[in-house]
Amino acid sequence: MPAPEIGPKDVLVRVRAASVCGTDLHIYRWDRWSAHRIHPPLIFGHEFCGIVEKVGAEVSTVREGDFVSAEMHLSCGRCFQCRTGQSHICQNVRIIGIDADGCFAEFVKIPESNIWKIDPAIPVDYAAVLDPLGNAVHTVLAGEVAGLSLAITGCGPIGLFAIAVARACGAFPIFASEPHPYRLKLAEKMGASVAIDPSKTDAVAAVLNETRGVGADVVLEMSGNPQAVRQAFQMLRRGGRISLLGIPSKPLELDLAGDVIFKGASVQGINGRRVFETWYKMQALLKSGALDLSPLITGNASKVLLYPNGKPE
Ligand code: NAD
Ligand code: ZN
Repeated sequence: MPAPEIGPKDVLVRVRAASVCGTDLHIYRWDRWSAHRIHPPLIFGHEFCGIVEKVGAEVSTVREGDFVSAEMHLSCGRCFQCRTGQSHICQNVRIIGIDADGCFAEFVKIPESNIWKIDPAIPVDYAAVLDPLGNAVHTVLAGEVAGLSLAITGCGPIGLFAIAVARACGAFPIFASEPHPYRLKLAEKMGASVAIDPSKTDAVAAVLNETRGVGADVVLEMSGNPQAVRQAFQMLRRGGRISLLGIPSKPLELDLAGDVIFKGASVQGINGRRVFETWYKMQALLKSGALDLSPLITGNASKVLLYPNGKPE
């Protein structure tokens, strides 16, 4: 594909590292969602960092040579949500790498409004994964966590990031459930106090046991697996907060009366990152040194990076 042509308000970025997301695997496998949503030919990929190669004539806040990433959800700026400070749930959202050419290429075109300049204090290894890390920061910080018990169901990259964020923000104890043995090990490395394999142990009983029958104050569902979703509701304490990030592949059955209504549970859907509130918080957490993500980047394929312009020194 030729390098993208940029308009007056666009920034052309030379991709330094791009990271593979679960969404890219859906596209690769060409499942029902992809066949419906993706209109080829398309360059996919939406997690990356890079160096600004060129800027459009009207761009004033970004310069050639800047080290950047980007919020890849393009909001319309005109709908009700955009006009009331909730552009992360824009009615007309378009996603670079899904609805427009993405970052699995030498160059990617980004509107100036969506560029995120990376603070030089942020380790380069983390710069390519700010998008999923932002999902984790958004979910963990969607309510109080300090001094609260917190359970995470599903320790893919986002669940693992969430353990690190929850720990940095003072949640304790942190319960993590994950059937994949390698990922469960990583959950422990990231700081989970109790790591549960739900294929061997009753995850709900384990959390209730460790909380004297009360349940976890906060539960983050990060798998999208129907069994995990039900368990997530069951391990929540009465009056607790459950935030749902994992995306089930189809509608699923829940015990609303027992697990939500009589519990007085607060249930939250989490979409993307708050723009740019989540990005500022993520930057602060990374700069403070409180977030140690190294087990995930150097590990055995928990996050896979691509270097379309060759691996940097
Ligand atoms: P992932 O698929 O790598 O991680 C999901 C994990 O859940 C896997 O490790 C899997 O082994 C585990 N799991 C499966 N069954 C389980 C069970 N019964 N109990 C506990 N864990 C179980 O995905 P990811 O990249 O970490 O993303 C997490 C989820 O969030 C996915 O569903 C993804 O589609 C979704 N997502 C949502 C948003 C959003 O904005 N809402 C953004 C990005 C990703
Ligand atoms: Zn909008």
